[in-house]
Amino acid sequence: MTMALSISIFALLLITFTVAVASTADVDSSLLLSSNQREFDYFQLALQWPGTYCRTTHKCCQKNGCCRNSGAPQHFTIHGLWPDYNDGTWPSCCTKSNFDEKEISTLRKDLDEYWPSLSCGSPSSCHGHKGSFWGHEWEKHGTCSSPVVKDEYNYFRTGLTVYFKYNITEALSDAGYVPSNSEKYPLGGIISAIENAFHISPTVVCSGDAVKELNLCFYKDFKPRDCATRSRMDNSKTSCPKFVSLPTYDSSRLGIVGALESFVI
Ligand code: 5GP
Ligand code: 5GP
Repeated sequence: MTMALSISIFALLLITFTVAVASTADVDSSLLLSSNQREFDYFQLALQWPGTYCRTTHKCCQKNGCCRNSGAPQHFTIHGLWPDYNDGTWPSCCTKSNFDEKEISTLRKDLDEYWPSLSCGSPSSCHGHKGSFWGHEWEKHGTCSSPVVKDEYNYFRTGLTVYFKYNITEALSDAGYVPSNSEKYPLGGIISAIENAFHISPTVVCSGDAVKELNLCFYKDFKPRDCATRSRMDNSKTSCPKFVSLPTYDSSRLGIVGALESFVI
């Protein structure tokens, strides 16, 4: 009896010890998640051109900026503010700081206008659940922006501030590069217009001949710099032809305009 009791107590202690070790391992792995990845080297502001991106829209929902009654945005919108390494790679999912929409409530109007999701999809977060586009960008990229950007509010505020400082849509329009479904523009002219306006050299990603993304790179103090030479922009799949378009997207083509009150997701 005494022997049986001793065995039970031993078994209980063993289980308790095992559970304690397992949870310590969990905590350690979360610490490793953040300490494993070295500090980033520079920022990349990734912009998307809705006229191109929205062509992939097949359904509408409230959060999809392509589906607005006023039509898709006619300006570049923000995809993300991404911390990068000089070798063309980047850190991701650096801490377990979950996205909290309440923290950015005061930025909401600007985010809806200039950093909207152009899709109905719910991207995965770093930790398994599905969430918003903003949540995805914060958890995947924002959490790696330390020590320059320390929290979620500052991540989105910084993204917007840099975006407003480098008004690419306006610089292109001033140089005659306006959205059009018939014009083709020299890629070199587009790049020069931005260089002349801001002394910053963008990288451009196309889908066919349509500009899809445009990226600006910055040192950690947000002075302009070149993007890493081995980044995805040098991939031949994403490189643009000599003449490119800045198409507009007419959401009424999908019967979307005016239908938002009654859409079914
Ligand atoms: P894509 O395959 O569309 O080029 O990239 C898919 C995702 O990988 C992007 O949305 C972004 O999260 C990440 N990504 C691609 N290129 C870069 C980059 O140069 N820097 C960073 N930080 N992330 C990137
Ligand atoms: P990234 O490409 O930044 O790693 O991932 C973007 C994720 O967010 C993808 O799962 C994509 O489907 C989703 N997403 C939602 N809205 C947008 C958007 O406006 N642009 C892009 N590029 N991805 C979006």
